[in-house]
Amino acid sequence: MRILVSEVGPRDGLQSIRETMATDAKGRWIRALADAGLREIEVGSFVHPRLLPQMADAEQVVRDALTIPGLSVAALAPNLKGARRAIEAGTHKITMPVSASRLHSLANIRMTCEQAIEEVGRVCALRDGLPAGQRPEIEVGISTAFGCTIQGEVAEDWVIEMAERLARAGADSIGLSDGVGYANPAQVKRMFTRLRSLLGDRAGAAHFHNTRGQGLANVVAALEAGVTTFDASQGGIGGCPYSPGATGNIVTEDLVWMLEAMGLDTGVDLNGLAEARRVLTESLPGEMVYGYLPEVGVEKGFRYAARGTAPEGTGKARPGAPSCQPAREAAE
Ligand code: ZN
Repeated sequence: MRILVSEVGPRDGLQSIRETMATDAKGRWIRALADAGLREIEVGSFVHPRLLPQMADAEQVVRDALTIPGLSVAALAPNLKGARRAIEAGTHKITMPVSASRLHSLANIRMTCEQAIEEVGRVCALRDGLPAGQRPEIEVGISTAFGCTIQGEVAEDWVIEMAERLARAGADSIGLSDGVGYANPAQVKRMFTRLRSLLGDRAGAAHFHNTRGQGLANVVAALEAGVTTFDASQGGIGGCPYSPGATGNIVTEDLVWMLEAMGLDTGVDLNGLAEARRVLTESLPGEMVYGYLPEVGVEKGFRYAARGTAPEGTGKARPGAPSCQPAREAAE
């Protein structure tokens, strides 16, 4: 079985940290991630540069990424204006965040849930007006699908109803996001089972953060519900500026190790990820990066799902590369 690991570090990760990564460093990092075998990378966000100065170079980053053969270049756009910019730049896949929490929706994209669904409809109409072959895929990630730091509980029935309305609005795929680490495995399995029975193959990616340490447990629960696409960020960087205390995405390195060890083919090479991690840490000195696999490398007898054995230590970050793993406890 093939799993798509969708790397979101250059978007979700970089937009949530204080430092801005230089455009050419972003290009080097994205290339290194693609070289490691990642087939889809969310490279930027078409948000007003005043709101997210870290993403002001999104056009250039997309254009650079489009020169990488075989890579699906994804970008986030919160509204029609952003989607227009993303399309103009040639983005293959546009991800639109739509929050299931009414209060989070207002805080994050300044629209009600209903307005956000209508905006997705307008973006899909724009897509449909383009010549065949130039239409980007429109994916919606329903954020706060498992709970919200502002509102608290988010009704599961409402999340599923939103998914249905978004499908009617024309979204190609609809996934569920937990940017605040509220999801638990039982809830994840229940929600994705409902989503998949409603939407079939239009049910999209699972996007988990590791805020309460449940990220990979939630991945296993989503796998059991039939999910085959998972967002992750290298070094676990990222969070949500509107969710105080929210730490990063699930760590790409740890996710790839787990999936491969479970016999699920990702096509991603762990040594390639270690090389990309070196580019990341050298480009953002002092920035917190996470992950267990890069500290220890693979164990004796490790086998990739499709490619067989790998030497012990594969995937281990180069000695001397900055790592903040021990500091993590201190920061918490
Ligand atoms: Zn996220």
